[in-house]
Amino acid sequence: MSVDFYACDCCGESRYEEYVDTCHECGHRVCTSCVVDTDNIDSRYAYYYGVKFDGTQEQRVEYGMEDENRFNLEIGEIIDDTGIAPKYCPFCSGEEVNNDDLLVFLLNKYDLEKDDVEKEYLAAKEKK
Ligand SMILES: [Zn+2]
Ligand SMILES: [Zn+2]
Repeated sequence: MSVDFYACDCCGESRYEEYVDTCHECGHRVCTSCVVDTDNIDSRYAYYYGVKFDGTQEQRVEYGMEDENRFNLEIGEIIDDTGIAPKYCPFCSGEEVNNDDLLVFLLNKYDLEKDDVEKEYLAAKEKK
């Protein structure tokens, strides 16, 4: 069995796949060294930072679990394949700002096209 390593979008380190997962909300990869507000979860495995089932219909709909017979989860159990829950995500919680997100924000704020900014950047680089 091969071991895969994934880069964390927060610290930039590449870590063993079991220690890195994608945030369900923002889609960034986060390692378990960067998670925040961990409720004292004492594990480096990303699985334990997944979304916990709260028994609500909203959550069943959000995670495709309307069929109650198929998804016999106890409240508090982790829903499979939910990656990192947004509450543990340093980006979603506002602890960290992702440069890619910041770029998108700036482009929208100043109504800029990324292509134009790239051209300007390259032109400025040439002049040096
Ligand atoms: Zn990290
Ligand atoms: Zn997130």
